[in-house]
Amino acid sequence: MPPVPRYESNFNGTITLDNSDSSPPERGDRSYIRPSSREALVDHLTGLRDRDETPDRIVAVGGFSSFEFPQLHLAEQGEDLSSSRREFPSPCLLVDVSGMNSITHIDKLSLTVTVEAGITYWDLANQLRAHGLAVANLSAYPEVTVGGGSGTGTHGSGFAVHGKNQADQFIALEIVDARGEVRRVVDPRLFTHLGVLGVVTAVTLRCIPMFFLKQACFEFADLDAFDSLRIGAFQQLAESADFYSTMIRIDLVDKQHHPLKCYIRTVAKDENDQEFQTSFLGADLVENVHGEEPQVFAGPYYDVLPDHTTASRKNVPAPGTYHQAEYFVDNRLASQAVHAFLSEADKDDSFITALPTGLKCRFVSSDDQWMSPTANVDGVELYMALQLSLYGSRSEIAAILKRIEDCFSDHGIPFSCHWGKLCYGGHGSVNSKLRDRAEIMNATRVEFDPDGAFLDSDSELAKLFGR
Ligand SMILES: Cc1cc2nc3c(=O)[nH]c(=O)nc-3n(C[C@H](O)[C@H](O)[C@H](O)COP(=O)(O)OP(=O)(O)OC[C@H]3O[C@@H](n4cnc5c(N)ncnc54)[C@H](O)[C@@H]3O)c2cc1C
Repeated sequence: MPPVPRYESNFNGTITLDNSDSSPPERGDRSYIRPSSREALVDHLTGLRDRDETPDRIVAVGGFSSFEFPQLHLAEQGEDLSSSRREFPSPCLLVDVSGMNSITHIDKLSLTVTVEAGITYWDLANQLRAHGLAVANLSAYPEVTVGGGSGTGTHGSGFAVHGKNQADQFIALEIVDARGEVRRVVDPRLFTHLGVLGVVTAVTLRCIPMFFLKQACFEFADLDAFDSLRIGAFQQLAESADFYSTMIRIDLVDKQHHPLKCYIRTVAKDENDQEFQTSFLGADLVENVHGEEPQVFAGPYYDVLPDHTTASRKNVPAPGTYHQAEYFVDNRLASQAVHAFLSEADKDDSFITALPTGLKCRFVSSDDQWMSPTANVDGVELYMALQLSLYGSRSEIAAILKRIEDCFSDHGIPFSCHWGKLCYGGHGSVNSKLRDRAEIMNATRVEFDPDGAFLDSDSELAKLFGR
């Protein structure tokens, strides 16, 4: 097995795991393994089973990018929320899947690829390019793993295929259960697996021919433009095969006007394609500022889709600890949701401090997965995602999130939240619209994991599963 790092934390350093004990686990011990193959993992778990040492709790970690692990109850480190630190439950066996990171098969005829679950989308996209292939849909952070991204319902931005839950491209999952048995999952409704079915070791997913994108950016002086440009962008999408996705960023500092930027991504001929539409709904194309991240540029899709506008890369200096939260509302209520949000934000300056890069609105088509936060429930076809890049201590962030959730409730706007990001009310409660589906998911979970090794009974998810 590759060398074991002694200590690690998640993306923003707020969830820590103490993996200093890498010796073979004893029942009840916390331990850490980073298998380099499914066989190594199976050997490890069957060895434990044969010695009657199957761990009571197992947690799989992929890119360790998440701000929340819904299947776990994370203990606060110290009593003060402002320290922001939480740690994994103890005892548990941590399975770090990042050592299983290869492409195992590419089928150019059927346009499918099979990967080990710990491969990052970044590596997958770069390696597929050498074969003239691509993944159709990518989130704003390609360092997530294929198995970990599907763990929380990670999504891209756009419409139809581009803006769906990434796991919508999956064809099959391979899972190793607590006792080392290998299972294959082909029911797409289980692909948002939340880490509770076992360790996902391999994924087969669809791919498409390699493509390039270009991003144009248009600035609007006033919030009044919000609805027309949201609708206008989707009209373009419907009319042009080259249209890929759109994203709207709303400024919070100018409380009177709330100017916005609309980012439009279209398919490019190649990375040198500099033909940009020069205006959109009356606004001119913005000019790149020398020395700052370009807002108008072309490149391989995996360079254009990552978010270049916040401290969304590790080790980028930030004004306080960086966190993320994300709420999903029915796109038909997008305007009411944005106005409700801003009416709360405008009350004082705390939103400006916590959200210096503003409110980012993205668009996610619904899917049919049981536990997807953007599931096709109540006839919702398209969600608007209110994505929040937050800076501050966790107690400061909690205060902001409480206000947002209260204001949506006060305005009668139903909402769900991202499983891998922060929320205030608890993921089980906020995502309670999934309760009926959770019952079905839970039945499968019990079949896969009868001893409950992958679900912490004090977790938010366990509440939703009714345990
Ligand atoms: C900077 C940044 C930008 C982001 N942008 C987006 C975005 O654009 N869209 C979006 O939807 N999300 C976004 N996210 C959230 C991110 O996509 C999710 O949190 C994702 O689940 C992280 O994947 P990971 O590989 O790091 O998994 P981890 O964080 O390690 O794990 C996520 C969950 O999956 C489980 N898990 C991981 N691997 C496995 C496995 N192999 N088998 C079983 N269970 C497993 C874990 O136990 C956990 O519950 C962003 C996060 C960051 C840090």
